[in-house]
Amino acid sequence: MTARPALNRSLAEFGTTIFAEMSQLAAETGSINLGQGFPDTDGPAEVLEAARRAIAEGRGNQYPPGPGVPELRRAIAGHQRAAYGLDYDPEREVLVTAGATEAIAAALLGLLEPGDEVIALEPYYDSYAACIAMAGARRVPVTLRPDGDRFALDLDELRAAVTGRTRLILLNTPHNPTGTVLPREQLAAIAELCAQRELYAVTDEVYEHLVFDGGAHIPLATFPGMRERTVSISSAGKTFSVTGWKVGWVCASPELTAAVRAAKQFLTYVSSGPFQYAVAEALALPAEYYASFTADLQAKRDLLAAALADAGFGVMRTQGTYFITADIRPLGLPGAEGADGEAFCRALPHRAGVVAIPSQVFYDHREQGAPYVRFAFCKRPEVLTEAAGRLKALAAR
Ligand SMILES: *Cc1c(COP(=O)(O)O)cnc(C)c1O
Repeated sequence: MTARPALNRSLAEFGTTIFAEMSQLAAETGSINLGQGFPDTDGPAEVLEAARRAIAEGRGNQYPPGPGVPELRRAIAGHQRAAYGLDYDPEREVLVTAGATEAIAAALLGLLEPGDEVIALEPYYDSYAACIAMAGARRVPVTLRPDGDRFALDLDELRAAVTGRTRLILLNTPHNPTGTVLPREQLAAIAELCAQRELYAVTDEVYEHLVFDGGAHIPLATFPGMRERTVSISSAGKTFSVTGWKVGWVCASPELTAAVRAAKQFLTYVSSGPFQYAVAEALALPAEYYASFTADLQAKRDLLAAALADAGFGVMRTQGTYFITADIRPLGLPGAEGADGEAFCRALPHRAGVVAIPSQVFYDHREQGAPYVRFAFCKRPEVLTEAAGRLKALAAR
């Protein structure tokens, strides 16, 4: 024991995540957990088998190479070329990481100096703020605002947030938690802004294969001048329904890749040996895999969106990701539960046997997120149908 608290100042504000609390509440109340965003069925059988085979054949059971196994780096480069026409050299421009989470952490730790500013779209994925703090930098949120039935970025707000200290924009599209997919014109404008103000972009593209209604993901790196300025991040977890494997990657110029690697080598050094071989095989799946994966999740989105609307929520339109954001105000519940997502989510397991996450935990400006809650739909249809039935209790009150 010392007079100073054990936890350092940069992390003290973050505490433990709401996910642990809500998952515990789900277990205690026997609720359906639509809080955390992981699928309740595992990825393709041949991909699972590839991991078993790699272990049995002694591939990856010992430390793999620092940048990742060559088979996987070549497969990642092949995916970027086939999906987006982006050419990366697997030797110098691709780096395998312990999930997108480590890629984000290493990119921020590798690129930022204390005092630098990072712009991120609020609400944001919970690791962003913590990693920016660990790098000694300052986060500058630009809020996605409700605009009709979706959340939208105001480009003027984004431009106004750039200062002489801004080092990079941390961009997530398709966007967790709102389900927003930034349109091409806005991505073009962001690219222009990065060039004008000499900013880097770190792009979290883990939902690249979950864009619905016939839309397509457009990496920021495909815009003029952006390939050299962008650290593109993705991962196998969401795309192949293997979130426990923690195989992620970075594609960037040699200079940027080296900067990320400089931090990554002292975080995990390497990880997920046999899974790296399996993900290399997953990335070689035919285009039909992605089409049926997207269609499957779109059907789940539709099922849950209809259920939430029936139950009386205001349902925001999900263009991509695993998530639907719902407005609780139209439910007309009395007291705090009627307007405050956190009070609502604490009561919902008792009221209806379903768990959701209050969106305000993803905000610096918590009041902006107060009336919204996030539901995950990456669950089996029978689970979503059961949740739908339970949520009807809210309407029948
Ligand atoms: C799930 C998720 C991640 C984490 O990806 P891992 O590969 O599991 O580390 C990163 N960013 C967003 C927006 C996510 O939803």
